[in-house]
Parts: sequence; structure tokens; C-alpha cells
Amino acid sequence: MTVDVLVAGFGPVGAVLTALLGERGVSVLAVDRAPGAYPRPRAAGLDEEVLRLLVGLPGMAGLLAEVRSSRRATFVGPDRRLLLAAGQGPAELGVPVGAFIHQPSVERALRAGIAAIPSVEVRLGVGVRGLREGAETVRVELDDASVVEARWVVGCDGAPSTVRSLIGAGYAGTTFAQPWLVVDVRSAEPLPVAPEIAFVLDPRRPAVTMPMPGGHRWEWMLRPGEDTDQMTRPDTVARLLAPWIDPATVTVERAAVYTFHARMAGRWRVGRVLLAGDAAHTMPPFAGQGLASGVRDVAALAWRLREVLAGVCGPASLDDYERERRPQVAAITGVEEDRYGNWR
Ligand SMILES: Cc1cc2nc3c(=O)[nH]c(=O)nc-3n(C[C@H](O)[C@H](O)[C@H](O)COP(=O)(O)OP(=O)(O)OC[C@H]3O[C@@H](n4cnc5c(N)ncnc54)[C@H](O)[C@@H]3O)c2cc1C
Repeated sequence: MTVDVLVAGFGPVGAVLTALLGERGVSVLAVDRAPGAYPRPRAAGLDEEVLRLLVGLPGMAGLLAEVRSSRRATFVGPDRRLLLAAGQGPAELGVPVGAFIHQPSVERALRAGIAAIPSVEVRLGVGVRGLREGAETVRVELDDASVVEARWVVGCDGAPSTVRSLIGAGYAGTTFAQPWLVVDVRSAEPLPVAPEIAFVLDPRRPAVTMPMPGGHRWEWMLRPGEDTDQMTRPDTVARLLAPWIDPATVTVERAAVYTFHARMAGRWRVGRVLLAGDAAHTMPPFAGQGLASGVRDVAALAWRLREVLAGVCGPASLDDYERERRPQVAAITGVEEDRYGNWR
């Protein structure tokens, strides 16, 4: 089997790339090691540029009716008194200037839209385990020992990316010492919490809270000595929620402890293999730019790949993809090249 593009990883970034290529007739095989979309929310906030792009994709026509719009971010004291409100400016792209999403619902709709694209095949439950580059194609070996020839391969396989390891692209940067507890709740009724993102500047327990369609999210920094098992127990979660809402009125969709990273691959393209999304970079969630950066990556890559496949440009034009995207990601992650050519 020979395809124009093999997309390794059908998470949100791989799915957006698949849609951007497939709807213009590029033959795409998207594979994902997982049998289905990740069922719990991760990305919650998106900016207007990303919303504008997503709303034009197959299956996404109803997106704007499903999101919770956002106009400002607030910074509050430990007593939740407003200290500062930062407006997000006027909406200029015909969509809200910022919005909160329920990621699993968005991914489900996008996957349904992609299923109707004739030039796309999606194989779930099978990942990429080997790559060998030839003159015109890359020979891709999948977990089930089947082999696919692809003119281009894009690794959208998340932070632990196999594709990134196979091409030896590195992943320089920092892992932060502070773990955070992230709790998502679902509620049939509106909750008595302001429908905007709030950073709680409490030195004893920094926190962030934000609305999501059909629910709300809280993130609390763990204190020294607190551990994952203790913090994710239902009684601990209920105790943390109690100052905000009546915990008995909500369903906890997810309570998990995360350690955040700011990392970036040293190279985003090696020959016919490219990286995008968390495979190329990962960052703390506080600026809401993780998924947004991945969507921007594939928006910058898809049209260049189409031009190269059509023979309009030579492969070297794909280096402009990294040139365009790296500065924005470097500005958020702080990962930069030192004078010896090492990425730190
Ligand atoms: C708590 C939390 C909050 C966040 N909040 C925000 C936010 O508000 N805004 C924002 O923009 N971002 C946010 N993010 C980040 C965002 O969720 C990620 O940036 C985004 O999910 C990355 O998408 P991706 O498709 O690149 O990778 P992933 O979603 O990780 O998808 C990678 C896919 O690749 C598959 N895979 C793995 N290995 C292989 C292989 N060898 N072969 C084939 N497939 C493979 C996996 O099964 C997976 O489906 C948050 C993240 C977390 C954890």
C-alpha cells in the first residue's frame, strides 16, 4: 500500500491534519495505537484563531453552538476577591475571542466528519513501530507487522512520540517540580461559579478554575508531601470542591495528578518525516496553548505538504514549516538554542 501521507497518531492534532489534507484529496492513512479517542477532557481553552480553523473542518459545523465563550481572565485573591481582570480584546474573526470546549465531544465530531472523506483511511488499535526512509517514500512498519509506503510521514503521536525517537530528534527542556491535581466535573444545572477562567493567587494552594461545556474544571497545586493517591480520593476532591460548589450536585468526570513539562524537539523535520503537536512540543496548560499550538502546526504544515505533493514546490520548502512555528513555541516554552547549537 502506498499513500501520500501517513499520519502517526490520530489524537486531536493528527485528526486536524488528516482533515486538512483529506478534504483536498490527498490520500492519507491515519493510524493510532489506541482503540478510540481519549475519553477524558484535556485541552479546555482555545483561542479565536484556532476556533476559526476548527469550525471549517468536516464535522465541526456545530462547534460554536457547543462551546462556552470567554471574554476575560481574572486573577483573584485567596478569598476570591477580584484583583485584576484581563480582557481578551474584541472578537475579530467571526468566532468568540476565546472559548472553552469539552475535548472528547469535539474529537468525536471531528472523527465522524473525517469518516466521510473518501481519500482517508483510519486504522485504530495499531501504531507505528519502525521507519525506513528510501529515495521517494518512507517504509513504515506498524505494530501488527504490516508495512505501508508513504511519501511523507507526520508524527502526531503525542509527548512520548515513537516517531520522534525513531528519527532521533531529541526533546530538550524542563519538567516542573510541582504536580497539579486536575478535576473536571459534569453538571446538568448551571453551577454557581463565574463562567470565566480564574487564577487563584493563594500562596498556600495556587489554583485555576474555568468553565467547560456541561461542567467546570479546577486545578490545584499539590503541597510538598501530598501524593497522587491521597489527592485523587473522592473525599479529598469533595473537600477541595466544597468552598466552590456543593460536591453532591456534580459528577466527577476525572481527577488526575499531572506534572507539566516545557519541551521541544530539536528538529521538526528529518528527511520525509515531520513532527507536529505534542510530539514536537509540550507546555504547561496555563496559557491554554498546548492543543492550540498543535493545531497551528498542522495548519502551517498541511498547505506546504499539499504544494510539495502537487509538485508546486520542492521538499526544501517544508523547512519553512519549522521556521514559522518554532519561534511561537519557543516563546511559550522558553526552550531555545544556545551558542553551541544545543537546545535547552
Ligand atoms: C490537564 C491538561 C490540560 C490542558 N489544557 C489545555 C488547554 O486549555 N488548551 C490547550 O490548547 N491545550 C491544553 N492541554 C494540552 C493538550 O491536551 C495537548 O496539547 C493535546 O492533547 C495534544 O494533542 P496531540 O494530538 O498532539 O497529542 P495526543 O492528544 O497525546 O495524541 C497522540 C495520539 O497518538 C497516539 N499514539 C501514541 N504513540 C503512537 C504510535 N507509536 N503510533 C500511532 N499512534 C500513537 C496516542 O494513542 C494518541 O491518540 C492540556 C493538557 C492537559 C494534560
